[in-house]
Amino acid sequence: MDAYNGDLELLNNEGNFELVFEKGYPEDFVREWPTIPEDTPLITKEVIQTKKAFLCEDVETLPKKYRVAQSFLRTSGAKSVAILPLKIGSDVVGAVQFTFRSPQKFAREDKIFMNTLANQCAQAFDRVFALESLQESKKELEVILKNVADGVIAQDSRNILVYYNKTALRLLACTNATQLRTLNRDTSEREMRDELGNFISHEEIFHKKIIKHEPTPQLIIQVINKRTNTVRWVMIKTTGIYHKNGDLFLIINTLQDITKTKELERRKDDFISVASHELKTPLTSLKLFLDILTNQIEEHHYSETERSIQKMKDQTQRLQRLITDLTDVSRIQKGKLDLRREEFLLEELITDTIEGLRLDISGHEIVFEKKASLPVNADKFRMYQVVSNLLTNASKYSPKGTKIIVTASKKAGKAVVSVQDFGIGIAKDQQKKIFEKLYQVEDLKKQTHSGFGMGLFIAAEIIKQHGGEIWVESKKGKGSTFFFTLPLVKQKK
Ligand code: ADP
Repeated sequence: MDAYNGDLELLNNEGNFELVFEKGYPEDFVREWPTIPEDTPLITKEVIQTKKAFLCEDVETLPKKYRVAQSFLRTSGAKSVAILPLKIGSDVVGAVQFTFRSPQKFAREDKIFMNTLANQCAQAFDRVFALESLQESKKELEVILKNVADGVIAQDSRNILVYYNKTALRLLACTNATQLRTLNRDTSEREMRDELGNFISHEEIFHKKIIKHEPTPQLIIQVINKRTNTVRWVMIKTTGIYHKNGDLFLIINTLQDITKTKELERRKDDFISVASHELKTPLTSLKLFLDILTNQIEEHHYSETERSIQKMKDQTQRLQRLITDLTDVSRIQKGKLDLRREEFLLEELITDTIEGLRLDISGHEIVFEKKASLPVNADKFRMYQVVSNLLTNASKYSPKGTKIIVTASKKAGKAVVSVQDFGIGIAKDQQKKIFEKLYQVEDLKKQTHSGFGMGLFIAAEIIKQHGGEIWVESKKGKGSTFFFTLPLVKQKK
């Protein structure tokens, strides 16, 4: 149509025009475009508002309000101008402008031609916008997937790996995609086993049958990292994503680290077996002494009966202690460890506890170093429980004939009690864990130390509820010192 220059303008998010394309404009005009004041009446604005094309056969006849536009058109040598809206659906996203060197009589075909051109431009923009927003949502999705705590692995319908995030790599002890693709095909550095410890093939992990409308297949695996010699438990859930026509499009595997849950489960299983053994032992000896007692009475050996009765009392006490511990753990679990507080001197309670345990701990020499008077407001019975647990542990985990040193002192307005033994000690990595529920140091389990792994957990809870702290300092093979603190009662002046 012999147009000699023109442009494409788009509305941006702020409602202003952006010159996205121009041809034939003087350079200084293009440079000045962004500086045109926002409130200047422009023909383009009217086109966008009215959603109608604006055709001007002679720029000299332009209405007065378009002075700025008119002067520009004049200086660029334009005689006629046509501005058409770019419509996407019912929205106008911008405008296309054509200018002519001679006054035009716009014929019907010219109008159709310009309209078609504007429509094609609008469609092209529509596609670009759609692509941009698709790319943006893709980027957003990638950011989310990268940062989720769970691992994500996506495969296409032919089981080919198309996406994975860092967490997935970490959970499966891999550092790159090749290792993921060869998972359990190359077992030199890592190996996957099922819950029972049986080897599982790559196909069993990744080529699961996905059936629409059926529950998500779920697999629990152990990831054995051969370099670090560690085991991690991972739960893999698999879901299918479908095309509109129902064909499988993507297979999404989400991977969750369930090592902690598994560890607790294992501890509970261990606990049940230890607990039943612990409860059975005193019962068996009770039964034995009952038989002996019956015989002694039948045969009138009364001199021996007292000893048998004492043994039975001891065993009953042991049973009682175990059951009290069990009840305490369940109370703590429910947050119901009620404290009956009263004021007393902590050092006196320690002396009494030591006296009470002297017979049980007769193989050790207990030394008590009282360095201060410690008035506390606490539950006497619970404090007795803590001290006696620390003392029994000290004797259980140190050789007979060694010393157990107990100290009671004051530091920073708090009572500090320590119980030191010269026994097997506790490795650094176990020192926090022993205060956890049902925790027993691994290599000790095979040995015959009676106990549930509940004592320290209960002691720690009691101390915490009293506003104190409990910790251990220890060196493997050299012995351990357990400490706890309690707030002191403020002395009345
Ligand atoms: P347990 O009934 O097994 O003694 P505890 O909760 O009292 O339960 O102790 C937890 C674990 O901490 C014990 O199984 C033991 O491995 C370790 N432990 C506790 N006290 C000592 C100590 N004085 N020396 C070495 N190890 C200890």
